[in-house]
Amino acid sequence: FVVFDHVQKSYDGQTLVVKDLNLSIGKGEFLTMLGPSGSGKTTCLMMLAGFETATHGQIMLDGRNINDVPPHKRGIGMVFQNYALFPHMTVGENLSFPLEVRGMSKDERAARVKRALDMVQMGAFINRRPAQLSGGQQQRIALARALVFDPQLVLMDEPLGALDKQLREHMQFEIKRLHDNLGITVVYVTHDQGEALTMSDRIAVFNDGRIQQLATPSELYERPGNSFVAGFIGENN
Ligand code: ATP
Repeated sequence: FVVFDHVQKSYDGQTLVVKDLNLSIGKGEFLTMLGPSGSGKTTCLMMLAGFETATHGQIMLDGRNINDVPPHKRGIGMVFQNYALFPHMTVGENLSFPLEVRGMSKDERAARVKRALDMVQMGAFINRRPAQLSGGQQQRIALARALVFDPQLVLMDEPLGALDKQLREHMQFEIKRLHDNLGITVVYVTHDQGEALTMSDRIAVFNDGRIQQLATPSELYERPGNSFVAGFIGENN
């Protein structure tokens, strides 16, 4: 469903921060890019989202090369660590606004906003402003905003990084539940081994711009492919 085919990326024309990446992600899969800071995970998401261009190689989405497709035409929802909700708008307006920009009718917008808020159990909060919500609630709204377009693919970059441990564990469960119920494909970026092992169908372990190992959580845990993977997966566990 998503294919990175010999993808390379350099920001300065010299140093490759992504080095010959080859990765196929299945439809409906929950694929996590796991690795230390600076290993190239976010860059991969940005190329998939269309905010960065690959220096070499191709990225395919649902069978077509998307190198020349602009971000808003890729049908991708996104959730980041800093949720970037509009502070002066209510929750409902935050979700409705991007639909309005795309010319959707008022009725259709209202129906979509309601459905997305119900998915994250936040229907009762439609008239609140972001400042009147807790961090976890804001993150749910950010999730709803990614889902309001009915995306086939959702990209999440450290979406739970700002939350405390207990809430993070709860939200891991919620995201997993949404993934399972909606059948969407998720590409998830984290440097948290525990989070990756709990949530993912498969994990791509990144280091220094390369995938060191691509495997299911149990394979990774039981048979780390090299000493980097063994060391990284073993940390904090
Ligand atoms: P983190 O978890 O810290 O975000 P990451 O694995 O997601 O790390 P990237 O953000 O993809 O890694 O960064 C990979 C390398 O590319 C780093 O050395 C970073 O400094 C560099 N880099 C990232 N974005 C840019 C940019 N816009 N311009 C120049 N260099 C960049």
